[in-house]
Amino acid sequence: MPTTLIEPFRIKSVEPIRMTTRAEREALLEKAHLNPFLLHADDVLIDFLTDSGTGAMSAKQWGAIMEGDESYAGARSFFRLEAVIQRLTGYPHLIPTHQGRAAERILFTVAGKPGDIVPSNTHFDTTRANLEASGVVALDLVIPEGLQPRTIHPFKGNIDLDRVEDLLKRDGDKVPFGMLTVTNNSGGGQPVSMANLRAYSALLKRYGKPLVLDVCRFAENAMFVKLREEGYQDRSIESIVQEMFSYGDGCTMSAKKDGMVNIGGFIALKDERWLEAARNLLILTEGFPTYGGLAGRDLEALAVGLEEVLHEDYLRYRLRTAEYMGEKLKAGGVQIVEPTGGHAVYIDAKAFLPHLQSEDYPAWSLANALYLEGGIRGVEIGSVMFGRRDDDGTEHYHPMELVRLAFPRRVYTQSHFDYAAEVICELKSKAEQVKGVRITKQSKYLRHFTAQFRWA
Ligand SMILES: *Cc1c(COP(=O)(O)O)cnc(C)c1O
Repeated sequence: MPTTLIEPFRIKSVEPIRMTTRAEREALLEKAHLNPFLLHADDVLIDFLTDSGTGAMSAKQWGAIMEGDESYAGARSFFRLEAVIQRLTGYPHLIPTHQGRAAERILFTVAGKPGDIVPSNTHFDTTRANLEASGVVALDLVIPEGLQPRTIHPFKGNIDLDRVEDLLKRDGDKVPFGMLTVTNNSGGGQPVSMANLRAYSALLKRYGKPLVLDVCRFAENAMFVKLREEGYQDRSIESIVQEMFSYGDGCTMSAKKDGMVNIGGFIALKDERWLEAARNLLILTEGFPTYGGLAGRDLEALAVGLEEVLHEDYLRYRLRTAEYMGEKLKAGGVQIVEPTGGHAVYIDAKAFLPHLQSEDYPAWSLANALYLEGGIRGVEIGSVMFGRRDDDGTEHYHPMELVRLAFPRRVYTQSHFDYAAEVICELKSKAEQVKGVRITKQSKYLRHFTAQFRWA
């Protein structure tokens, strides 16, 4: 039996990518003020900035685009999508939105109020921001292993049930609902086990609290359950997905992830408690309830994407991609967050650049160096993103300095990954030449998107 796991698709439409010279990249990065977010994507050879909305659609999805019903109200495309989502989630009520954060804003405006506390394993940054915008405290209660980069655990995305119970005992009246992110994006794309999901749901139920799932990567999570959790080896992905949703009372989704589309999102709800208020808010800012913030063709492509993402060959290849990349990097002496999650590999920049100090922003430096070395764009998850500078100039650093390489779905082939791993390992062998950076200009909020830098 051959052991090579192949990309389970062939390519019908291609998009050229362009190699630049090192001298060109130096000039381009200088012009972007050493901020990879400010590069033109055409000047990037391999773009691992994010897996969000960057995937390739299938021929079937492109075909469905032509089937899109653009009627303002009651479009056929809505009912087609609704049927798929009802089948997968068991939730009767669908509210389409233009992307995940719109779903979050609408649901949290309706379901939360100032002074409330909402626990999760780890709130994604837009989730946290939207809760906080409603005056709600977003509490991260991932298990301790979820915060230890090199501790091996099959389900590092699990929520710490003891700490949830403490919260419910102490401040239960302030908790409107619980949340859980599957997979745990901010924690490295780490999965949540079915046992944890089931127990969390039961615990919340004992206290009369509903559970809202953030299901951006529900299919990747289901595949981890199939591969790692006792009793699921012979279950279909669809039945695992259905069981996962059965423990929730509703969900928010960014379809730019496991929806396999370039734009889209939704809320789905099991009962009517938040439905009418959420729909009213949807009409105010997104659109009529049968299209939300999307075109009919987007709804069609999403309906197909939600079916395709359940294919086991695809998911096996998908999870293997991150694992393969992780193996190659480790073999080259590069330390990463382990085990690899579903959608990305995280390089430990402090270990990669031991000669740099916090004030050198090691992960930001490394992200720049990867671009200079081989035209690869990753993203810093470190002190530029999560640290801050007070008005008096005091800088607060983040304990972890990581560079995330996130993998677009069905876009790059094995040789792209081989090339990227080679570039990174080669850079590792001359890491002492990589200089730190200093911030020369920054904004008060989300500074990583626009900050400017110089070499130290
Ligand atoms: C991407 C993402 C979101 C936000 O979705 P957008 O479509 O980017 O607005 C929310 N939660 C998680 C876990 C995500 O990965």
